[in-house]
Amino acid sequence: MRFHKAESAFFLFIALVSGAGVLLFFAYGMVRARALQLAAVGGAADLDAFTHLLLTTGTLLFASVVFGLFFIYPLIRTQVREEGKLRAMTESLSARSELLQHAALTDSLTGTQNRRFFDDALREYLREFGRIRKPVGLMVLDLDHFKQVNDTYGHDVGDQVLREVARCLKDMTRYHDVVARLGGEEFAIVTPNMDFDSLVKLGERIRNAIAAFDVEVGNLRLKVTTSMGLAVWDGKEGAEGFYRRADKMLYEAKRLGRDRVCA
Ligand code: GH3
Ligand code: MG
Ligand code: MG
Repeated sequence: MRFHKAESAFFLFIALVSGAGVLLFFAYGMVRARALQLAAVGGAADLDAFTHLLLTTGTLLFASVVFGLFFIYPLIRTQVREEGKLRAMTESLSARSELLQHAALTDSLTGTQNRRFFDDALREYLREFGRIRKPVGLMVLDLDHFKQVNDTYGHDVGDQVLREVARCLKDMTRYHDVVARLGGEEFAIVTPNMDFDSLVKLGERIRNAIAAFDVEVGNLRLKVTTSMGLAVWDGKEGAEGFYRRADKMLYEAKRLGRDRVCA
């Protein structure tokens, strides 16, 4: 059984008071014996009064210990139990609120960030990287002819494809890049501190990787391709303008025949 700090302190207090009580009773025994000796030869009234005083003090100490153990200790125990319950409740509430916060910012199908997180993160990155004058890259991706995948193989297979693509994007990006599913079969990646050339190289690598892998569903092996629009922040435009520029490039990639990167 583990004791709370308040309980341990209380037991120490009781032990000290009991110790003082025991010593007092010894002192009482000694003084009383002496008083009896002196009484035999003519009396020692003041010593007699002193023994009574010692006995009364000892009795008071004993009563304090009893009062402490039977009245104060149960109160401390109740307090400790309530505090424990409250702590458990607060812990479970804060764990739950973390879970809710995580859910509010995560796309449940793919486990990537969602649009809401993306919007905030993009704004935040532009603010911070604007201050230190470093580049921020943005990729907007859209799977090609995805409707056909759904129409031909069903929605569940479509979902599986989205999950695999998301995993590929996560695998190919750095820890501080933000990978988000903006909706449907459209993803975006924010790549802080990446210049134009590196962004184009990464975009091509990702496009190739998606085109290269097979999504295995049962005994089906599917291939998907993706079109991608890239932009590097010009240091002035707002998050929306920046996104629109990358999105225009995506539109251009679609227009030029899909499965390509436009920047
Ligand atoms: P494009 O190459 O022009 O992008 O053609 P597309 O077929 O990919 O684009 P379109 O916008 O015509 O169709 C997108 C499809 O994505 C339509 C919808 O069925 C599918 N879709 C959207 N969200 C989900 C989802 O959560 N799961 C699945 N399985 N399909 C989705
Ligand atoms: Mg599409
Ligand atoms: Mg789309």
